[in-house]
Amino acid sequence: MGLSDFKNEPLSQFKTNPEHQRKMAEAVEKVRGELGRDYDIVIGGERIHTGDRLISYNPAEKNQVVGTFSKATRELAERAIRTAEEAFKTWSRTPIERRVQVLVDAARTVRENKYYYSAWMVFEVGKSWSEADADTAEAIDFCEYYAREMLRLERPAPLAPVPGEKNYLRYIPLGVGIVIPPWNFPMAILTGMTTASIVSGNTVVLKPSSDSPVIAYKFFEVLEQAGMPPGVVNFLPGSGSTVGDYLVAHPRTRYVAFTGSKEVGLHINELAAKPQRGQIWVKRVVAEMGGKDSIVVDSETDLDLAADGVTSAAFGFQGQKCSACSRAIVVEKVYDAFLDKLKQRVETIKVGVPADPGIDMGPVINAGAEKSIMDYIETGKQEGRVLTGGRTTSSAGHFIAPTVIADVAPKARLAQEEIFGPVLAVIKAKDFDEALEIANNTEYGLTGAVYTKNRQKLDKAAETFHVGNLYLNRKCTGAMVGGHPFGGFNMSGTDSKAGGPDYLLLFTQAKTVAEKIGA
Ligand code: NAP
Ligand code: MG
Repeated sequence: MGLSDFKNEPLSQFKTNPEHQRKMAEAVEKVRGELGRDYDIVIGGERIHTGDRLISYNPAEKNQVVGTFSKATRELAERAIRTAEEAFKTWSRTPIERRVQVLVDAARTVRENKYYYSAWMVFEVGKSWSEADADTAEAIDFCEYYAREMLRLERPAPLAPVPGEKNYLRYIPLGVGIVIPPWNFPMAILTGMTTASIVSGNTVVLKPSSDSPVIAYKFFEVLEQAGMPPGVVNFLPGSGSTVGDYLVAHPRTRYVAFTGSKEVGLHINELAAKPQRGQIWVKRVVAEMGGKDSIVVDSETDLDLAADGVTSAAFGFQGQKCSACSRAIVVEKVYDAFLDKLKQRVETIKVGVPADPGIDMGPVINAGAEKSIMDYIETGKQEGRVLTGGRTTSSAGHFIAPTVIADVAPKARLAQEEIFGPVLAVIKAKDFDEALEIANNTEYGLTGAVYTKNRQKLDKAAETFHVGNLYLNRKCTGAMVGGHPFGGFNMSGTDSKAGGPDYLLLFTQAKTVAEKIGA
């Protein structure tokens, strides 16, 4: 099976391309007409309706229902695992070409309707048009990339010859995987963890985030349309703490692929580590977690470029990215000049209802997030000085103004804890070396960036800035599938490097076969 070389899906240009703009506006209206529908659980292809409802709201219009869902029970979780286990018997032996074809067909469906999927994210999680577009493009990329990766993995690995033997190594699937994605890349991350699982020959119980079940369901439908057999992915919306724990602890669960907060990731890791009665394997846990990401701004740099990069990385999707810049660490000599440029830029960010065109920043995800972010802003007022923002902007939705807190100490709470909202702490460093030390002073290690024109300083940062994804003279968000394999160090997770050549190894196990010749 030959596929062309992998290429990233191009992003839409809403500001400059009227055609892109028109298509997105049409998709937004189409989705508006589809809001409020009811969705089922799907196990083994069967639609199941339960009494208890899970409701997905639009964070920009608190009372607008995006969709309602049947909520899974433990009985249904049990059934989903058993169904996935049964499907594994045939799917794991299905020719790789056929599994790859499902991903390629899924990518095509999403590409042909990409504005439609993006529009769902606008309503369900409050993404601006271009943030939603990038999420959809990344989902397409994951399908195309892992399809090609599976074909590469299938080719025999070169082994050292052993005289008198014929030996080879093959990558085979693991079994039933539990896929638990977050709401913040509700399409891309869900698609990545799910397609990596199934192209490798595993079967899946997919528990979507309770904040983004509709977009999850939409991608599940894409897989069905792409010819995925019933039971290969089972769609199981429900509460993380009840259904999630049951799935993770289950003795027939072979692995868990999780992306979300540090707290939940560590809890899953602990629960999965404990063998259950009847369990005959060590469960594998792929856990990608939080971040407290820094951009270092040196004195020897173009401050305009640095201020652009920090603004975009701190406030894109309201700062709700694991890769978001939540600390700018600025060398003393240019500190005041940088703050001026930053303030100017942040104050031009347009906050509003993201279904409208031209909005830069929408709402934060839900009431809980709004409260926790506003609490951090209050803390920030004690720990530093509000340069701009610091308030909610409308009570129709969960809107918070882009907020910059300056003069924050390196060990302050604002400088150490993941806030996951539009709040940037600015920290002053006496020189570049101290800035790098501060950059490494959290328990996380996901992304980071450095702006400097000095070659030695760039080399030093490359050597000592301890993060999974380091960017030099560019912002710390916007990793590209294939180009920037993504995953963090320390409490940011297991460094799985999604969208990279090592990723499918996490979803497979290698079997070595050596045969005596002429026996
Ligand atoms: P979260 O609260 O940890 O939730 C993530 C998922 O875990 C949701 O589907 C949630 O379901 C589920 N869950 C909750 N409790 C569970 C349990 N006891 N057992 C099993 N599953 C459980 O995180 P989030 O708010 O969705 O996402 C934001 C976080 O994700 C941030 O910390 C961010 O940094 C991180 N993130 C990391 C990366 C990365 O690549 N490193 C990428 C994106 C996001 P419910 O919705 O039903 O609670
Ligand atoms: Mg919602």
